[in-house]
Amino acid sequence: MSNPVIEIIDVTKTYESGNKALAEVSLEIPQGAFVTIIGPSGCGKTTLLRLINGMTGFDSGQVTVMGRNLKSWDLVHLRRKIGYVIQQGALFPHLTVRQNIAFVLNISDAKTQTINNRITELANMMGFDERQLNAFPSDLSGGQQQRVGIARALASQPQIVLMDEPFGALDNITRRNLQNEIKGMHQKLGITFVMVTHDLQEAFSLGTHMAIINKGKIEQYDTPVAIQKNPTNIWIKEFIKV
Ligand code: ADP
Ligand code: MG
Repeated sequence: MSNPVIEIIDVTKTYESGNKALAEVSLEIPQGAFVTIIGPSGCGKTTLLRLINGMTGFDSGQVTVMGRNLKSWDLVHLRRKIGYVIQQGALFPHLTVRQNIAFVLNISDAKTQTINNRITELANMMGFDERQLNAFPSDLSGGQQQRVGIARALASQPQIVLMDEPFGALDNITRRNLQNEIKGMHQKLGITFVMVTHDLQEAFSLGTHMAIINKGKIEQYDTPVAIQKNPTNIWIKEFIKV
């Protein structure tokens, strides 16, 4: 695969409890891809995602991000280049929307003017007005809160955005709206997205590539069209039936 931005090679991960979450997993993610990761609950999706920004360690194998072995990255530095979005409730409740979005920028050495400009840009992109920027997360709907989470993840202009079931707690209409927005953002911004989901339709419609996992192993990794046309085993065939 040409120019991978993330390379996971033969990674095995066992939790202290003895739980083997990943077994010799390999995944190459090309620059600019939108990879959706799907599989049954407990199959290792979150663990796989958290390998990429060093939030989860591993027993063996190798992870390379933006051309550098994870082991040689300063993790604080790396995480500033990787946005991270999880389900609702991940915002700081005592900070305003503006402060939430600016959080990473404020702990970097960006100038106030630069930060303000960036917040205006993100507010425009996500459709927030001044009043909403000054509100607290609890004043917003679930969908709006997720928009804040996305804006915060994009604030430092990351090259990679990781998302762990970001729309899982939203109602259908809000979810479809946000899916469309994120798809547009991916096309416009050209950054690499890796998204864990348990929604098949979401995995198929957003992914340029799809990784189907079962019991800590990647069953198939290909384009959605190829997976639909040619599921490589009976388990996948059953799994992708809607
Ligand atoms: P998924 O996101 O697909 O639901 P996870 O990656 O969260 O799966 O978990 C994979 C497996 O590892 C599961 O069996 C889960 O119980 C276990 N696991 C996850 N996190 C921990 C942890 N912090 N300590 C021990 N076991 C864990
Ligand atoms: Mg999970």
